[in-house]
Amino acid sequence: MSINKWNQIVKALKAQLSSAQFDAWVHPVHARYHNDKLHVIVPSRFFLDGLKQDCGELLTQLVYQQYGESTEIIYQIDASLVHQAEAPPKQDAALIKNTVDGNIDPRFTFKNFVVGSSNAFCFAASQAVAEKPGECYNPLYIHGGVGLGKTHLIHAIANELIIHSPLKIAYRTGERFTNELITAIRKGTTDQFRRKYRRVDVLIIDDVQFIAGKTSTQEEFFHTFNALHEIRKQIILVSDRSPRDMSHLEERLRSRFNWGLVADIQPPDLETRLAILEAKAELAGIQLDKEVSYLLASRIVNNVRELEGALTRLTAFAHLTNQSIDIHMAKNILRDQLHVNVRSISVDDIQKKIAEYYGINPKDMRSNKRSRNIAFPRQVAMYASKELTQLSLPEIGSQFGGKDHTTILYAVRKINTMCENDKNFDDEVSRIISSIRN
Ligand code: ADP
Ligand code: MG
Repeated sequence: MSINKWNQIVKALKAQLSSAQFDAWVHPVHARYHNDKLHVIVPSRFFLDGLKQDCGELLTQLVYQQYGESTEIIYQIDASLVHQAEAPPKQDAALIKNTVDGNIDPRFTFKNFVVGSSNAFCFAASQAVAEKPGECYNPLYIHGGVGLGKTHLIHAIANELIIHSPLKIAYRTGERFTNELITAIRKGTTDQFRRKYRRVDVLIIDDVQFIAGKTSTQEEFFHTFNALHEIRKQIILVSDRSPRDMSHLEERLRSRFNWGLVADIQPPDLETRLAILEAKAELAGIQLDKEVSYLLASRIVNNVRELEGALTRLTAFAHLTNQSIDIHMAKNILRDQLHVNVRSISVDDIQKKIAEYYGINPKDMRSNKRSRNIAFPRQVAMYASKELTQLSLPEIGSQFGGKDHTTILYAVRKINTMCENDKNFDDEVSRIISSIRN
């Protein structure tokens, strides 16, 4: 019943939004209705902002229409939805049916993967496995943070194998593997479940951390692992952490995960982020000028998916409004996302760090003491507050014990001039600022 209502809402959104907006924001959403509360679940903060900004009001109206005005809408973030945020795969159905069990996204290829120092090792290992499955690294265990290309790489292996080999591939998330097993146990079909997995040539389990702590799943997986490994079938595992850091993982599984190659993937450096943006822009058929690329790549540092999302959002906006993407548009459209870092720094943090740096009491940041050993660090802190926050001069003044905005302005100008005239001091201030930023 409530699912139907949600489907109605999705339909209405589809009718009223552009397809770019719909694909970008509505497609990744899941919803759950319970006790007058509608939980709207999205994969990340980025999607939440996008959804609210582009269709928040419309969504609220539709929810009231369908579920009644007393409904409370609760937005939630669930990172495990992350790869469902991708569009559904389109592939040659016949080919897939013969060789693949599970959804492999044809867009995730080695060719589309940008290699930099942070991911070169995983990339090379994945290529080696795609070339000689079952022979070199078994299992291949890839781990790393969210949105760094782990799923991309294992789909790339699968895509390569689909083209160049007749091997039977099974791709599962840890969650789906677990759910299938639970169903099999309930229906008394565990034998069938077992046979199915032991017939494959390549078993790929994404987000394998999901099975840690689930006793019967681990047990079953252990036996499947052994059966396949014994006859040199390739096993590929992906997790958000290393085997060592996976608490609640059975010891015998942990040791098996370490049998082959454990490779970790790190957040990309600035050059790689720029290269990724360039590649994605090219794929999307859009021009991105250097300033805009740099803005995105320098602000969105830990998650390639978010970088990609920012680009999608800019592209959608540019198409909708028929404008080209320039730096002002980018700053405006992505303001929430780009300021995440900046916003999360408070004047209080700045005062504490700078007081510590100069060895003064943080309370003196708010005092009126005029001695140079206190007044000077305070001025540096005022300057840093202007640099690192979005606050106005009067707002900053109020956080320095109610100083006038002209006092802040004076400090900002003074430190600026000093930086211009003294290279060493300039370096020192840059160091302080970047240490606060990180
Ligand atoms: P993870 O599984 O590590 O959370 P994904 O593999 O789903 O991350 O990657 C998130 C998004 O970022 C995908 O759209 C993927 O194509 C893209 N991506 C990540 N790293 C790269 C890279 N090095 N080159 C190109 N695209 C990348
Ligand atoms: Mg993933």
